[in-house]
Amino acid sequence: MKSTSLFAALILLMVCFCSTDADARQSITERAHYESPDLVVGIIIDQIRPDYLYKYWNHLEEDGIKRLMNEGAVFRNAYYRHLQTSTGPGHAAQLTGASPSVHGLIGNSWYVRELDRNINVIEDVGSGYQGVGSLSDYPGEKSPNNMLTTTVGDELFMFTGERSRTVGISRKDRGAILPAGHTGSAYWYEGATGNFITSTFYRDELPGWLQDFNDRNLPQEFLTRTWEPLLPIEQYVESRSDDNPYEGTFPGMDTPTFPVDLAYLVEEHGQGPGLLSATPFADELLFELAIAALEGEELGRGSVPDILSISLSAPDAIGHRFGPASKQVQDYYIRLDQYLADFFSYLDDEYGMDNVLIFLTADHGASYIPEYMSDLGIPTGHTEFGVSAAGQVSQAVRDYMEETYGEDFLLSYSNQNMYLDHSYIDENGLDHAEVQNDIMRFALSLPQVGGAITADALNKSEFTEGMRARAMHSFHQQRSGDVIVWLKPQTHGSGTGGTGHGAGWAYDSHIPLIFMGYDIKPGQYYEKAYVSDIASTVSVFLNSPFPSGNIGNPLNGFIRR
Ligand SMILES: [Zn+2]
Repeated sequence: MKSTSLFAALILLMVCFCSTDADARQSITERAHYESPDLVVGIIIDQIRPDYLYKYWNHLEEDGIKRLMNEGAVFRNAYYRHLQTSTGPGHAAQLTGASPSVHGLIGNSWYVRELDRNINVIEDVGSGYQGVGSLSDYPGEKSPNNMLTTTVGDELFMFTGERSRTVGISRKDRGAILPAGHTGSAYWYEGATGNFITSTFYRDELPGWLQDFNDRNLPQEFLTRTWEPLLPIEQYVESRSDDNPYEGTFPGMDTPTFPVDLAYLVEEHGQGPGLLSATPFADELLFELAIAALEGEELGRGSVPDILSISLSAPDAIGHRFGPASKQVQDYYIRLDQYLADFFSYLDDEYGMDNVLIFLTADHGASYIPEYMSDLGIPTGHTEFGVSAAGQVSQAVRDYMEETYGEDFLLSYSNQNMYLDHSYIDENGLDHAEVQNDIMRFALSLPQVGGAITADALNKSEFTEGMRARAMHSFHQQRSGDVIVWLKPQTHGSGTGGTGHGAGWAYDSHIPLIFMGYDIKPGQYYEKAYVSDIASTVSVFLNSPFPSGNIGNPLNGFIRR
């Protein structure tokens, strides 16, 4: 009797499971085939480290960063794959799903043998493109053409019969241009005038909504402000003392301290709208522009999805000057929390967050100021603070070449790449691989150097983990150098007076990755994820083809469907 009722119960249970499963499958099929978000918003925070999301927690409100963390899918083990963690390669990786070895953007600028100079990542040499909306002498020739592969937005544009639109905005030109892809629109800040401008690559006139936005003259208004801590500074216990010897200063100020009287710096030190770049107000301005762009372009209002990329670059300028342990960086994030809360509230009201897919990430992290770490007893590769460590390495290599070969044939050392003069090697009957190995061995003897690999080895090998795998992801066969030489951990620039990024070490390559909104199941995810996974993940939501150079994989397990 007992076993019969148990058997019946089991059958009943199985029927329940089966029908639940079938229902679930049906809804999965429907959603997967026919639905996508109205709007994708990419929020790129230039130089944000994942620890900031927790470090300032006690000072945050409920509707900004905490909302992202509570309602979002938070990937706590997300990285860049590449070695050269700078703004251009990082911004490109997000929506191309590719590494620099594929999308071709190996640095913010890189050495070009034919020109014997570095070109900027968005410099379109010989194109003749001009600035649009600029009131100053414009350097021009800006486009995404150095980026060799398509983006999510490019694929969506073609997939929708050219109806979908992608708009990229940033204080930085590259921060706007690269996420906008080849078929989108990009608008960036001109420090000389305080206007948002574009390039004739995109259009010959600014759109009316942007002219109206520029006419509001918000930068002039913001320049009358004084930047003081939003909360009483004694509450910022998570940061070091405001006045310390490791940080840089605003030009015209003697100490790296609050308050920063912008009107004084404008009037007494001849500074212009570019001054806003290293204050939180630059990103307050960018969120104003984001709303103007959503409304002006009617993004997410048509029958196909649109994409808006917002690249916030004030934290990069603030971080470079003051470092991750500073009260200035802390104050930036406490203010960003409010900007995000206001922006999310706008999306709730205008679109409903269920119709918007948000992803938030960084283009790279940042190092603590090396001299500060050294004073704590942590080793660095610096032998002398105040002197460029990379400069010491390249000088030592040049001296070695003179001694060993009788000639300095190092053309450039940039983005951790040493470019050797190929004609010198050929004319002297030397073997390229042997010379590369010789230079590598010498570089490895230097105290600043953390590791090295030759182009010859990268051309013959496939690495899956560690710094050599990072070097492989940063190595573009036609654009990279002959010997890749990276510095020791905690070694950057001159090591003091501010800090930077660009290394393959965790502080530069471990970044936040959060999805929120449309169909996102909240949670914390610890499996390894890469920024290059964003593109295919977003493409899956949009049902559109993966970008042409995609190497990433759709992240899953956090989607409700
Ligand atoms: Zn950056």
